[in-house]
Amino acid sequence: MAEQIATNITWHEGSVSRGERQKLLNQKGVTVWMTGLSASGKSTIACILEQMLLHKKKSAYRLDGDNIRMGLNKNLGFSAEDRAENIRRIGEVAKLFTDAGVIAITSFISPYKKDRDAVRASAKPGEFIEVYVQVSLAEAEKRDPKGLYKKARAGQLKGFTGIDDPYEAPDKPEILIETENTPAHEAAKRILDYLEERGYLKA
Ligand code: ADP
Repeated sequence: MAEQIATNITWHEGSVSRGERQKLLNQKGVTVWMTGLSASGKSTIACILEQMLLHKKKSAYRLDGDNIRMGLNKNLGFSAEDRAENIRRIGEVAKLFTDAGVIAITSFISPYKKDRDAVRASAKPGEFIEVYVQVSLAEAEKRDPKGLYKKARAGQLKGFTGIDDPYEAPDKPEILIETENTPAHEAAKRILDYLEERGYLKA
């Protein structure tokens, strides 16, 4: 594998600037990175946020477990190494959307701090917003919309985050949503307000 990695490549600067793309879309590209336990509400909140943005005529695109794991990352499993590669690729795709001026909303458990921090480190300043979608394990198990916790508890699913694989919560997320006392709609609105207040929704 290593000898196939290309070394004689150079970045080709285009002639359309970031500012021009921003003006075209009347917004700034950014990655809104949702992290949290399975069933914390990442996808639910991401969908509402995407709709709210659409109503404001803002271009957003959701990257989530299914559309990525069924395509780009279908060759990856759930070992620590594969999880790291999963997140690295998602980070790279989110960066491309961000560069194109789109608001990329990612909803992945992304349980390891090191992997999330690597994505943050590779983003341009201000273009990575970490949203910790927090829920207690007890509440997540109660919600269990896909029956995954039940399966993990029964030993039918190995390496499940929160059960037999760790979840490392962010220390300093830009936004913390405590979903046990924040309805999903309100959570999405808080993220929208954050984007608006910080100037992401204008060129
Ligand atoms: P994730 O993407 O984090 O795995 P989902 O959004 O798929 O989570 O599922 C979360 C479940 O919890 C949904 O069934 C949703 O309706 C429910 N839920 C209950 N309260 C909330 C809340 N405050 N925020 C988000 N989801 C909530």
